[in-house]
Amino acid sequence: MNFQLDENMLAIQHSARLFAEKEILPYAAEWDKKKIFPVDCLRQAASLGFASIYIREELHGSGLDRLAAAVIFEELAAACPSTAAYLSIHNMVSGMIESAGTPAQQSKWLPLLATMKIFSSYCLTEPGSGSDAASLKTRAEKRGNQYCLNGTKAFISGGGHSDFYIVMAKTDIRKGAITAFIVEKNTPGLSFGKPEQKLGWNSQPTAMVFLENCLIPAENMLGKEGEGFKLALKALDGGRINIAACSLGAARASLEHTTNYMKERQQFGKPIAAFQALQFRLADMATQLEAARLMVHKAACLMDNQHPETTKMAAMAKRFATDIGFAICDEALQLHGGYGYLQDFPIERYLRDTRVHRILEGTNEIMRLIIARQILGKFHD
Ligand SMILES: Cc1cc2nc3c(=O)[nH]c(=O)nc-3n(C[C@H](O)[C@H](O)[C@H](O)COP(=O)(O)OP(=O)(O)OC[C@H]3O[C@@H](n4cnc5c(N)ncnc54)[C@H](O)[C@@H]3O)c2cc1C
Repeated sequence: MNFQLDENMLAIQHSARLFAEKEILPYAAEWDKKKIFPVDCLRQAASLGFASIYIREELHGSGLDRLAAAVIFEELAAACPSTAAYLSIHNMVSGMIESAGTPAQQSKWLPLLATMKIFSSYCLTEPGSGSDAASLKTRAEKRGNQYCLNGTKAFISGGGHSDFYIVMAKTDIRKGAITAFIVEKNTPGLSFGKPEQKLGWNSQPTAMVFLENCLIPAENMLGKEGEGFKLALKALDGGRINIAACSLGAARASLEHTTNYMKERQQFGKPIAAFQALQFRLADMATQLEAARLMVHKAACLMDNQHPETTKMAAMAKRFATDIGFAICDEALQLHGGYGYLQDFPIERYLRDTRVHRILEGTNEIMRLIIARQILGKFHD
């Protein structure tokens, strides 16, 4: 067991930090305020290999591991959690093509995804099925050498902007079998709701996705028929580690801002950093951040080693790091006093952006459900 990042990992961290500080941080507040999806910046990130981090090199990826991904997402999110989180979803989609795609699908799509020539979305949630994702109603019916898709997906990150959608749909209603499909944006019958107005995550669009008699070639099926749900959940193990890492980045940035602010801000004739009650809060924030990072890195390492406890550890890390990450941003806001509430400081943006991390990729209640199931086995019900 080694708790230090090796030289290679430190170099990756350094390059992600430089990129984030130069190409993301100066613009993040404007992207948030004006709801700009920073396409050029994302493509620049892709040119550094950040759009296909853990895809094998022979499949046009960066060939790095999940730990590297966690390190990269923490750095990018320290500048803009919303932009980093979209990139994390895009990486998750690429990972699904790598793990379940046919050689033809891999060679067609992975180079485009790696360069972000095309943007991608993951479509599991529906208006009537969120936490109970298996109850989804989107249908895919076989018609000759095509499938006909009908249904509605909700809350889709990148929705309306992405060129490429992985859609989970039922191929057998009676057995409840779910299959994954690749749906291209130009498919007749595919349309989008208006961009959702959100509390945060403003640098990426979120929209409903409507599928109305969308005919797609049978070769766009991803993985085997009936195995789409397993595929979708497996992808979420990694997605949860990525999102947890995004919370670490926002929390770290908020903590750094707060430390500096407390040294400068004077009240009662001295810097507020001199008050021990506030020092203790800073100490607790730093301790909790460290604990969360250890959990995220452990989950990433388990996933890299295909450890049987990966799902449980990813759920634990996601639950803990996203709750703690948000709590640290909230504490940071409190320690900035009224200024923390203003958009002149970035804290309120970190707070708004990290709130959703406790909800998506499975809510933190569902994380507890997953963990409890693993602990209790078949007795959980
Ligand atoms: C900004 C944003 C982006 C998103 N991006 C995507 C995306 O790209 N792709 C995608 O597929 N989805 C996406 N989602 C959807 C997200 O994953 C769902 O919102 C989430 O899974 C929760 O589903 P729900 O909103 O329907 O809440 P519900 O499932 O209706 O839950 C409501 C409440 O009940 C709780 N609850 C439900 N069941 C249980 C239970 N058994 N035990 C205890 N508590 C329970 C939940 O934790 C929650 O607190 C996104 C959501 C948001 C807000």
